[in-house]
Amino acid sequence: MAKVPYVDKDECTSCNVCVDMVSGVFQMDEENKAEVYDPSGGSESEIQDAIDACPVLCIHWKE
Ligand code: SF4
Repeated sequence: MAKVPYVDKDECTSCNVCVDMVSGVFQMDEENKAEVYDPSGGSESEIQDAIDACPVLCIHWKE
């Protein structure tokens, strides 16, 4: 099975970087926190780039 990312919303600062980078996977929820709405909407390397770019490092892979 492909790796699935998730956002630790308590840490998210609503900076929008992940949504800008991989809009097929991440979106902002009604509270302006990032969330994963389609884990298959981007490649693993695209998602990893967003994980690395998040300023508070609150995007993780589910184990
Ligand atoms: S990059 Fe990180 S802090 Fe910024 S919106 Fe996405 S999850 Fe939140």
